[in-house]
Amino acid sequence: ATPTAIAAGIGNATKHGIIVKSGEALERLGKVARVVFDKTGTLTIGEPEVNNIMINQSVQQSEEEFLRLVSSAQLYSEHPLGVAIRKFATANNHQLVEPKDFQVIPGKGVIAQVESHEVVVGNPALIASYGFVIDKALKKKFDNENEKGNTAVLVAIDKKVAGIITLSDQLRPDSGRIVNEIYKWGAKISLLTGDNEKVALKIANEVGINEYIASALPEDKVKTVESYEASGQKTCMVGDGINDAPALKTAFVSIAMAGIGSDIATESADIVLVKDDLIKLPYIMKLSRDVIKKIN
Ligand code: ADP
Ligand code: MG
Repeated sequence: ATPTAIAAGIGNATKHGIIVKSGEALERLGKVARVVFDKTGTLTIGEPEVNNIMINQSVQQSEEEFLRLVSSAQLYSEHPLGVAIRKFATANNHQLVEPKDFQVIPGKGVIAQVESHEVVVGNPALIASYGFVIDKALKKKFDNENEKGNTAVLVAIDKKVAGIITLSDQLRPDSGRIVNEIYKWGAKISLLTGDNEKVALKIANEVGINEYIASALPEDKVKTVESYEASGQKTCMVGDGINDAPALKTAFVSIAMAGIGSDIATESADIVLVKDDLIKLPYIMKLSRDVIKKIN
């Protein structure tokens, strides 16, 4: 073994804006058989934009009041969807108010008290967990948006499903090329996302990943990684969010995006891409194998 090769490798990585927390992490990366990618903020830029707001006609509420309540509920949200909703509201001159009892449900959404209103924003699983009923017309709109591959979130205000917000995120321009290079490097690849089936399929097709798992909660992400490991595939998890942190810890080796990612993700990972530059991934993977060659 040559500790010198490892030290030199870590030094080169640092020059490229990659923090490798241990020599072992670099060696492990070189032995990986599968790379698992999170979607939002990892393969995509993670700056979604609000496209559309659809109000439940049977609930008496103006679009203005709806948006003011939802964006106030997201005031402390670090999630890209929460940030996007907040930005959209402030761009439309809404004054956000301080929410009370703000709670994040990782992989599902947020809950908060805004003035006298109880606001729940998130996916169908979150809405269902409260027993709120989604009216047929709105359910149809929600399904249509999913079919189109849009991310849609449901909003319940005072125990009634009050509307839908649809958002879309841009792929990182290099995602397809990065995926291609990792396949050439010789690893299998999966997309693992909390988003819906149709969005997962659309993104997988666009970047050329041939396996995907959708609607994954943080614990499902852990189970997915565990099942790959159990089948003998040493796995590298790549992610950026709180929802990825448990899977980052579970994986044989893990990589976090630091630029927009949460601190919990960067603390949980073995390797950190400092400037949020996924493009560095093929480089660090090649480097890891070079280092191994010098050891054996
Ligand atoms: P990903 O795995 O793609 O990074 P997440 O696990 O973070 O996605 O989120 C999964 C889903 O949970 C989102 O698609 C959305 O429906 C819902 N969600 C999570 N956080 C929020 C939030 N702050 N506001 C609204 N919806 C949210
Ligand atoms: Mg993410």
